[in-house]
Amino acid sequence: MSAEQTEIHMNSERILVVNSPEEINWDIDVDVLVIGAGGCGLVAALAAAERNASVLIVEKEKDAGGNTSLSQAMVPATGTRMQQAAGIKDSVQLMTDDILKKNQNGSDPKLTARIASQSAPLIEWLKDNMGIKLELVSDFLYPGHSVHRIHANRSRKGENMVKKLLNAISRFENIDIAYNAPAVRLIARKPDSAVLGAEIEIEGIGKNLAHANKLILALNGFGANRDMLKEYIPEISSAYYFGHEGNTGEGLLWGKELGAELQCMGAYQSHGSVAHPHGTLLTWAVISLGGYQVNLLGERFVNEFHGYSEHALDVLAQKDSVAVEIFDERIYRQVWDYEDIQQCDRMGAIKKFDSIEALAAGFNLPLNALQETHRQYQLAAAGEQPDPLGRKEFERPLEPPLYGVKVTGALFHTQGGLKVDANARVLDRHNQPIPNLYAGGGTATGFSGKSGPSGYLSANGLMAALILGKIAGEHAAQRKNQ
Ligand SMILES: Cc1cc2nc3c(=O)[nH]c(=O)nc-3n(C[C@H](O)[C@H](O)[C@H](O)COP(=O)(O)OP(=O)(O)OC[C@H]3O[C@@H](n4cnc5c(N)ncnc54)[C@H](O)[C@@H]3O)c2cc1C
Repeated sequence: MSAEQTEIHMNSERILVVNSPEEINWDIDVDVLVIGAGGCGLVAALAAAERNASVLIVEKEKDAGGNTSLSQAMVPATGTRMQQAAGIKDSVQLMTDDILKKNQNGSDPKLTARIASQSAPLIEWLKDNMGIKLELVSDFLYPGHSVHRIHANRSRKGENMVKKLLNAISRFENIDIAYNAPAVRLIARKPDSAVLGAEIEIEGIGKNLAHANKLILALNGFGANRDMLKEYIPEISSAYYFGHEGNTGEGLLWGKELGAELQCMGAYQSHGSVAHPHGTLLTWAVISLGGYQVNLLGERFVNEFHGYSEHALDVLAQKDSVAVEIFDERIYRQVWDYEDIQQCDRMGAIKKFDSIEALAAGFNLPLNALQETHRQYQLAAAGEQPDPLGRKEFERPLEPPLYGVKVTGALFHTQGGLKVDANARVLDRHNQPIPNLYAGGGTATGFSGKSGPSGYLSANGLMAALILGKIAGEHAAQRKNQ
């Protein structure tokens, strides 16, 4: 251990600055150090190891997964073999346009196109090289995507995706993972800020100084850091946080201290359909397939089809910050394969009723108001009158038995982060790469606009995590000794 030495050189709680790597007695030496074992970190490690780099992943928690485990494993990709087999006409340009339209040109168009261009290669690489098969989700269109391009595993469960990534990792002798091993500081060289490694606090072992030729920040954003939320996104800082508790923002703070540019810090993804008080996601597919929401006055309050992220603020603005989501047997059966739905069911969140009147009584909603809301909705769904709130997407009118779930809005993850280039290298305020430093996923700037929840196109999160992770891992391995 080099504790004394660390104290001597310690000039910040976030960065240990030294004149040269020889000043330190390193405990660990690898080609690529990955901080964070979520989707971004695991994919980055695989991509680097495949190119023969020695890789160490350090994870703060006792398990891998982070938000990726909590996700529905939905990954957007354009030009995949599955899309082609299904006769879907898509292109890098169309996917790029969809992202830029949703975020109101709030992401770098070149980088956005680069990510779109690497989306199909990611899906094919996961299958062909790593044995991780995703299928095309074609039963409904997620809001904002012009064509069916979401790919997911059968269970729609991120936890299963993480298990498969860990299986793949276990086949590589050149990847090690340390759990309960938070990185607490980066180590950088004076005067060029070149990153040399990190200080890792490994449970039961203590402080370890890890030297790496390249370091990949894959530790997501600051959803679990209330102080940073208050500073950067006050509008959502007191909402329920539905993401992983490990995501406390230190990657952004380290980067900032090294001179990196932080961008889009007010942007985030939230969700307007989290079962309350159960705290389980009720998939947005329920809305996409024809469900709707009312507030405690029995009234609809917005066109639900505008997107699940911005919908959170609409729900939070209602009485008691809740709504009741209403759907029918057809929808219930169609979403049954989602493990989140089965969990909602097991927890008693999904209530079944013979009629809209019984549903009103079950949720203590004003009967007359709900009857009228339902009547209007059914007419619009049958195409007999325009929807008063402008919704155009209906499958068909709902038929009893009806189902209801009380839901609330929640923060899922932040979208602001470190500016990166086309190779996922972290850039400083002069647009120059900070030597040896990469970022992806929630630690890098997202593709979801400058601020607020509405720039988030469905599945932007795993897109940034997995694609930037793969790019970072590949580049870091190729340049491991430069
Ligand atoms: C309920 C839910 C559903 C979602 N569904 C989808 C979806 O279907 N599709 C989609 O595209 N997006 C979805 N998202 C968003 C998506 O999950 C995230 O954007 C994505 O998982 C981010 O991946 P990541 O690797 O950047 O971070 P994570 O998966 O969160 O991994 C970060 C890891 O870093 C670790 N860490 C943090 N600090 C340190 C430290 N100091 N040292 C070591 N380790 C550290 C954390 O413990 C964590 O394990 C969803 C989010 C939620 C909450």
